[in-house]
Amino acid sequence: MSFKISVLASGSTGNAIYIESDSTRLLLDSGLSLKKLEEALSEIGRLASQLDAVLISHEHGDHILGVGVLHRKHKTPIYGNEATLTCAEFNKKVGKLADDALHFIDHDESVVIGDIEVNAFGTSHDSAKAQFYTFEHDGKKIACVTDTGYVSEKIEQVIKSSNVFLIESNHDVEMLLAGERPWSNKQRVLSDRGHLSNEDSAIVTARVIDENTHSVILAHLSRDNNLEDLALMNMNSYLADNRGDVFDNLQIIAAKPNAVTDLIEV
Ligand SMILES: [Zn+2]
Ligand SMILES: [Zn+2]
Repeated sequence: MSFKISVLASGSTGNAIYIESDSTRLLLDSGLSLKKLEEALSEIGRLASQLDAVLISHEHGDHILGVGVLHRKHKTPIYGNEATLTCAEFNKKVGKLADDALHFIDHDESVVIGDIEVNAFGTSHDSAKAQFYTFEHDGKKIACVTDTGYVSEKIEQVIKSSNVFLIESNHDVEMLLAGERPWSNKQRVLSDRGHLSNEDSAIVTARVIDENTHSVILAHLSRDNNLEDLALMNMNSYLADNRGDVFDNLQIIAAKPNAVTDLIEV
């Protein structure tokens, strides 16, 4: 039995995460053009036409840019909550879809697609009704959470004890504050409905990983307000100090904006 994940792209220029079992192939978000998605999938030997579903987290362009074209070309079913999949921004960016395109899954609901169980949970983000997902198959679990201003205890309960844990490590607070973005944009990123900083990310990770966790993937790194080395260093040192009991068993990697990670066995 195989259960694998690869991050195809991550960050404000486009997000797409690929998850597969032997018989089911899923995409979490499709923020790349179809051409770029197809190129990324080909790097791991997969085809967009093979996807059984695309799950949507929220309607920001970096998560849904390619969804409409993907659906029109390959009839890929689209899953997400009703508030997101019927909001004006989603409709405008995605365009015309087949009548049976949309499948609703709301916060705290589960759906089985093929042989993968998908659980949705709400995040705190400035969008219609953001949600992320855990994926379970054959007793193994993947948890993915990005685009959230904070991680509540309720979310921690859902994402804890996953074998592969993917979490946003969006910005370094000092780089963000020293940067050239307008103050309103900085406030948005730092707010409860913005993004997780490197520090937030490490604190949450230390609370939810356990002896089952073998891989931590840092995702949605800001191009302007973070550095891959800084995010990795921060996570490594925090977990070494605070989770020495499991730290030696962990592979910690950073997903990149324009490079596909290996397929990681869950
Ligand atoms: Zn967003
Ligand atoms: Zn995003």
